[in-house]
Amino acid sequence: MARRKKIYEGKAKILYEGPEPGTLVQYFKDDATAFNAEKRDVIDGKGVLNNRLSEFFMTGLANIGVPTHFLKRLNMREQLIRAVEIIPLEVIVRNFAAGSISKRLGMEEGTPMPRPIVEFSYKDDALGDPLVPEEYIIAFGWASQQDLDDIVSLALRVNDYMSGVMFGAGIKLVDFKIEIGRHYDGDFHRLILADEISPDSCRLWDIETGRKLDKDVFRRDLGDLADAYTEVARRLGVMPTNVTHAPTKPTLIN
Ligand code: UDP
Repeated sequence: MARRKKIYEGKAKILYEGPEPGTLVQYFKDDATAFNAEKRDVIDGKGVLNNRLSEFFMTGLANIGVPTHFLKRLNMREQLIRAVEIIPLEVIVRNFAAGSISKRLGMEEGTPMPRPIVEFSYKDDALGDPLVPEEYIIAFGWASQQDLDDIVSLALRVNDYMSGVMFGAGIKLVDFKIEIGRHYDGDFHRLILADEISPDSCRLWDIETGRKLDKDVFRRDLGDLADAYTEVARRLGVMPTNVTHAPTKPTLIN
């Protein structure tokens, strides 16, 4: 295949120009970072797992009518996606207290929220992705009030779907982060789910034991991250066997 043009390289993924206008190829790296990239490592097989898991969640969400950027998986590490203009917000949904909300409010991790809480951080690594109120988002023009209403209802649909799927696998969905993109179609645009959904961007606890099955394993040095992600994939039937060491077999695209 001809050398593709790299559009963007982030901490865990690379975006390449896609085969047709309006498409991109999203490549999942094995790099893990935390605390604004102060802690970093390479976790063998993480990219393969996240590619599969994100495909699984995005496909399931599309099946219940949630619009997503996912088009198809191309190979072990790459998927074809719709090109979107990313809204510079991290949309966080919380069902139980953990991480920053526990620190900010002195709330014990695991405390149930009275209802799912949706909050927004401004995507800016240099600033450490600060929490922002809706007032800032609208005043600075990152999104309109109508966009925010649509984003909140989309985030809550994702939460209901993900909570149910996880519950069926004996996993508690504590919180997660999504990103939303504007997808342009002629003169119109609509908001769709973009980026990825994977254990890198969720907190997942085993319902019985409380074992952490997400990136906190890396952030807090709790064991082998690839083992934790493989367990999630196994329980969901995404990868019944441990294929993290299987040979890569890319599929050619036309
Ligand atoms: N999260 C993420 N990327 C970020 C910040 C947070 O994917 O840059 C996810 C994180 O994995 C967790 C949720 O969003 O599932 C809530 O994170 P929190 O605000 O508690 O921040 P953290 O404790 O991760 O710094």
